[in-house]
Amino acid sequence: MHKYFPEMGINIFWYKENKIKSNKLISNLDKLNNDVRVCNKCDLSTSRINTVFGSGANDAAIMVIGEAPGKDEDLEGKPFVGRAGKLLTEFLESINLHRDNIFITNTVKCRPPENRNPETQEINACAYYLDMQIKIIKPKVIILLGKIAANRMLNEDKSITELRGKKFFFQKHAIPVIVFYHPAYILRSPSKKYKVWQDLKFLKKILLSHVN
Ligand code: URA
Ligand code: SF4
Repeated sequence: MHKYFPEMGINIFWYKENKIKSNKLISNLDKLNNDVRVCNKCDLSTSRINTVFGSGANDAAIMVIGEAPGKDEDLEGKPFVGRAGKLLTEFLESINLHRDNIFITNTVKCRPPENRNPETQEINACAYYLDMQIKIIKPKVIILLGKIAANRMLNEDKSITELRGKKFFFQKHAIPVIVFYHPAYILRSPSKKYKVWQDLKFLKKILLSHVN
């Protein structure tokens, strides 16, 4: 079939490239996770104990994207299992959302030393994995926790205050994206907890209009 493509006016390189793309789409999360496990595309690979791919349902309607694994996550290889994670779980449970039905992951899959912010080159090196997770899972809503995730996904250098309570759309996909305070910030500033209820109320509204 291929050899007739040029005669038919079909550009073989275009065809090949798209075939590779669609093969990648079909490949499941397990395969991607295997790639992450042995990834050394950035320096975070030298200090991590475990990679933290993400956890939850492969067909989740809701995807939550945090910043980076911390100490507990690095030890367990699972996202949001430490104090911030417990708070996040509580927040979600309060509106009847259970972690098992959601996919939770991070902007980078390896822990930055001393929990420093991930650097731009590390975020860029890891971007492929997050993009593929979104393509494979095809969530109906994406929640970004904190500034690092928000800036990475929305390509904007804005404060959380400016980004909360608004609905964005993820690139060309019609996936609504909303920004929440990071639960680690709420742990540091408990007086801001009431703002999380505003975030959750907004999420409920989005879920009603975008998820059956
Ligand atoms: N903070 C994050 O952003 N991600 C985690 O997995 C844990 C804490
Ligand atoms: Fe690879 Fe991402 Fe880990 Fe860097 S943070 S080593 S890009 S998996």
